[in-house]
Amino acid sequence: MKITAALSGRGGEAPQLVELEQEAPRAGEMRIRLVATGICHTDLHEHPGRHSPQPIVLGHEGAGVVEELGEGVTDFAVGDHVILSGNSCGQCPSCLAGLPTYCDLAMPLCFGGKRLDGSTALCAGDETVHSHFFGQSSFATHSIVPQRTAVKMAKDLPLEKLGPLGCGVVTGAGGVIEALKVGFGDTIAVFGTGGVGLSAVMAAKLVGAKRIVAVDLSDERLEMAREFGATDTFRGDQDGLADAIRQVTGRGVDYTFNTTNAGAVHTLALEVLAMNGMAGFVAAPLPDKDGPWSPQMFAMLAGGRQLRGILGGDANPRTFLPQLAEYWRQGLLPFDRMLKFYPFADIERAFADAKSGVAIKPVLLMESQDDA
Ligand SMILES: [Zn+2]
Ligand SMILES: [Zn+2]
Repeated sequence: MKITAALSGRGGEAPQLVELEQEAPRAGEMRIRLVATGICHTDLHEHPGRHSPQPIVLGHEGAGVVEELGEGVTDFAVGDHVILSGNSCGQCPSCLAGLPTYCDLAMPLCFGGKRLDGSTALCAGDETVHSHFFGQSSFATHSIVPQRTAVKMAKDLPLEKLGPLGCGVVTGAGGVIEALKVGFGDTIAVFGTGGVGLSAVMAAKLVGAKRIVAVDLSDERLEMAREFGATDTFRGDQDGLADAIRQVTGRGVDYTFNTTNAGAVHTLALEVLAMNGMAGFVAAPLPDKDGPWSPQMFAMLAGGRQLRGILGGDANPRTFLPQLAEYWRQGLLPFDRMLKFYPFADIERAFADAKSGVAIKPVLLMESQDDA
């Protein structure tokens, strides 16, 4: 079948729209007609080439309608509304424990650009095009997805808004709720208030955190963080920041959630922890002029503090994403206020706005709302 997709690997600042040939879904897979797809920073980092082979169709916050079932698909029916999350094997100890983002095969299944048997779902004439990015490659009008990648959503929800639940929103909200297990009366500081950080702020408010500190370099983002529930906001470049944050409670915060890759912020996120605090992070610190970042081990030892990497919010998408949608329905998780919509053809502008920060969470619309 002919599809339109945005291809990475041929240069340029953003993927380019091209016509590709897509095969039929194989056993255990489905064809999804995409309605919308969010753009996430992982797409920006992969576009010039990083972990995945090229040429490839990226995109991993897809939302769409099940159009065709491969052999043996039993969890879905044609016409179901689905959002797409990461791919996982379903059989390793992590998957069996309901922690599919830590699947033993997460790297080949999400970044390998092909099925485990080496095949891809896409080609351009004689040229192989890599597919199955996060099990979806959703910068396209249609996507071939393993059924484990898909999560069924209620048909009365606005499908075009739901894609970011599958990565950006769950990374922040799941990080706070599922991984750190922040609860009533707890205190937390969130570093970086992009889409992931703002989702973390919303989730901290949802679970009843007593003080929610937000730190960013943008006054506008900090204002948004306040609207979403931050009780205290600080500019990241202010003098004496560590003391100022510690003074919010007088003894530091119970949790930090760091969405940045700056070594100095990783150091700060440990410094502001109270005794027995936990520092969660979703991006690794980049090496700086002093070399690779390393934590202050004595402060961790003396305070019983923990440093915790978190992928995909520790969440099991099949159960957690419909819960997030339900909280959105009740007005308790207004993530849609972060979204900015672009026609699919404007992917270059959407990529530029994601990079510059003009848009917190750009979402590409694959078709007009009328026939969605
Ligand atoms: Zn992502
Ligand atoms: Zn697995």
